[in-house]
Amino acid sequence: MDEDLWDVYDHQTQEEAILRKTDPNTYELIVNHMHGSGAATLDRKNLKDLFNAIGNEIGAFPEVVPTLQVDNVKMTRELFCIAQTEIGQSGRNWSHSHIRRLQRLIDQLDKHRPLGPDGKHGDRHTPTCGCEDK
Ligand SMILES: [Zn+2]
Repeated sequence: MDEDLWDVYDHQTQEEAILRKTDPNTYELIVNHMHGSGAATLDRKNLKDLFNAIGNEIGAFPEVVPTLQVDNVKMTRELFCIAQTEIGQSGRNWSHSHIRRLQRLIDQLDKHRPLGPDGKHGDRHTPTCGCEDK
């Protein structure tokens, strides 16, 4: 079932490179040139690593910066606060680390939608606070 997936020939150097699928999980990279030929057997992981390395080298895979999108800062903060209370009342011994984790998320939400000493947002608007009328 050998199947050539890719074949490139350089007329100037008279070199040919072929990527051939030799069975469902094995690939062969073959290089032919005027003095002979060479081949490397690759599995799927080898190939994935190879393509990632090339992609990174030529910039085909731009670095992705994931950002958490919060569609409603106010409601999400309320959800986290309720979750903190419920987890705190559960009496489970893992509760403290989860409460701290939620607090760090709440602190980040408060940067989007700052609250005053009275717990109200008021006119402390930011570009990402989510208020309709600023
Ligand atoms: Zn606002």
